[in-house]
Amino acid sequence: MIIASQKPLQEILDMLEGAKKVLVLGCRGCVAVCSAGGDKEVKTLASAIRLGKKRRGEEIEVVEETFVRQCDPEYLEPLKETGKGYDCVLSMACGVGVNFIADRCPGVKVKPALDTSFYGANLSSGEWKEMCAGCGSCVLHLTGGLCPVARCAKSLSNGPCGGSQGGLCEIDPNVNCVWHMIYEKLKGFGEDSSLEEIMPIRDWTTAGHGGPRHRIREDLLP
Ligand code: SF4
Ligand code: SF4
Repeated sequence: MIIASQKPLQEILDMLEGAKKVLVLGCRGCVAVCSAGGDKEVKTLASAIRLGKKRRGEEIEVVEETFVRQCDPEYLEPLKETGKGYDCVLSMACGVGVNFIADRCPGVKVKPALDTSFYGANLSSGEWKEMCAGCGSCVLHLTGGLCPVARCAKSLSNGPCGGSQGGLCEIDPNVNCVWHMIYEKLKGFGEDSSLEEIMPIRDWTTAGHGGPRHRIREDLLP
């Protein structure tokens, strides 16, 4: 899922400078699962905005709503109708949701309440870790299911680098060297000799370095 976290309240209040009527809009997708932008967080942020604005001596009407997803056109329909009544929509979705509203609802001023961080997994309550870089060219079948693009600080295709010490990454003693993990994993399967084969230079154009990516599935088109 996409992991995000809320921006500092003062930054959000500054963003809403001059706005008299604001819709705080949550998303029941990824950001609800990572406790950053679901129903509960909408309620909490809306109250904090009301209080924060009162303390600043500013008047504001804050409306709360949560969509099933902010990245799907069918759920944005009501916003197209009602969006014009708000000075601003404060989106608590990831950056995809903010962009999608900005694209599809031209009359709506949309601002982000969250910082979108990465594609990750939930390790335990309150702890998430990056697991995938969405690079568009998956090599997990060669690396024991562990991603060297997202989980190696240098995104090396042929690791480890010289900084790997005792299974740890040179950037931080609290971070495991993923290339060490890959080696151990493949060794466990008796497949470590596959690492002697050098991976070719990666084509980074699939990773967004070639511009915004766009995918079409002909079989699903209307
Ligand atoms: S808008 Fe973002 S957070 Fe919400 S469902 Fe879509 S990708 Fe996930
Ligand atoms: S120590 Fe390992 S994880 Fe860290 S940069 Fe080098 S190869 Fe990548």
